Amino acid sequence: MSDIDASEIEMVRQSVRDFVRNRLVPLEDEIERTDDIDLDLLNKLKKEAVDLGFYGFNLPLEIGGPGLSATIQLAILEELTYTSVPLSEVLGYLPLSLTFCSGEQRSRIVDPILRAEKTVTYALTEPNAGSDLGGVRTRAQKVDGGWRLKGSKHFISHAETADYILVLAVTDDSALLKKKLTTFIVERKNPGIVGMTRYRKMGWRGYHLNGFTIDDCFVPDEDVLGEVGGGFLAMMASINHDRIFSACRSLGLASRGHQMACDYARERRAFGALLRDHQAIQMMVADNDVEIEAARALIHRAIALAEANDPEFRIAASRAKLYSSEMGCRVSDRVLQIFGGMGYMSELPVERFYRDARGFRIGEGTSEMQRIQIARNALAD
Ligand SMILES: Cc1cc2nc3c(=O)[nH]c(=O)nc-3n(C[C@H](O)[C@H](O)[C@H](O)COP(=O)(O)OP(=O)(O)OC[C@H]3O[C@@H](n4cnc5c(N)ncnc54)[C@H](O)[C@@H]3O)c2cc1C
Repeated sequence: MSDIDASEIEMVRQSVRDFVRNRLVPLEDEIERTDDIDLDLLNKLKKEAVDLGFYGFNLPLEIGGPGLSATIQLAILEELTYTSVPLSEVLGYLPLSLTFCSGEQRSRIVDPILRAEKTVTYALTEPNAGSDLGGVRTRAQKVDGGWRLKGSKHFISHAETADYILVLAVTDDSALLKKKLTTFIVERKNPGIVGMTRYRKMGWRGYHLNGFTIDDCFVPDEDVLGEVGGGFLAMMASINHDRIFSACRSLGLASRGHQMACDYARERRAFGALLRDHQAIQMMVADNDVEIEAARALIHRAIALAEANDPEFRIAASRAKLYSSEMGCRVSDRVLQIFGGMGYMSELPVERFYRDARGFRIGEGTSEMQRIQIARNALAD
């Protein structure tokens, strides 16, 4: 889609906004309270998203996705990230590494995923490998008709419920990182996936992170994703776009919190004046306002580069992710402060914004990893 029509973007934006505000936002409190999400309800909502034509909105046409422009995808993300982390999964933001699927894998695996009948997650991180994927210890040994995998993974989103787990494993110890790893499409119900555990964590309630062991797990040749030795490339296919999603999540909670804080400051009184008339509150509101707009500008700049197929997109996505995730923590802290004691209570989503914001400085590449990329780029000869 090359011609971007402003009215078309507005239509998509409005339709996602209606779905998010009417169908998802009312569910936030119960998910937060129980730290769980009813799977039948989740599947029902995903089907509604399929019917609306938005499920898998980030996938290109060649893999069966809607092939939306980066600009329209951004409009969807901006509306979607108004809601909480588990609920913003309902529109099916899917791993772009699926574009490496063969024709046969597309009809067998991707088509049911796009109909929201099956789900998928990716598993890179291990106890000895997070930022540094050179530390991956999960190994795949070639055997007749397939591979035998052995190792472990942790902090994996939705592994306990996903039908497919994209597992990164070493297939050539002697090769450099870019040739050393292969991605395997592993069914969660494979008898070699054992010891599934769920982490207790600070925020992102209702969005589960799991660890599991891969114990002599047979994966047939037809379930290798892309080329043997091409695992790093396949997994990295998503990373810049995932960083934009993450940046939008930070922007979403910061903007919503800021709006709520402004509304509160217009009605709450202290020392005979509205909060909005106290300069200390005005300073916090101004800092929130500027930082939110700066994050939005960095995200929009990155998307303009993606739209132009400009390789600068990579660094622009890192800048947007770094700034937005750190901004989300600062803004949600000030928002909570403006609300005073009420901000600390779970009656309002303000304390959730504060807890949820923290995760975005770690997932999809930590702030330090973004800084390293940005500095390397700035200092290159
Ligand atoms: C909410 C959440 C969801 C996640 N979902 C998934 C998922 O679905 N799939 C998946 O595979 N993983 C997932 N992860 C894991 C995530 O990708 C890793 O936690 C992240 O990459 C960091 O790796 P690590 O935890 O091993 O930290 P480490 O790599 O051990 O880093 C520890 C600290 O050291 C810093 N550091 C490391 N190297 C350097 C360096 N060279 N210079 C300066 N500082 C450095 C890091 O920035 C960090 O602050 C998730 C994590 C979270 C928190």
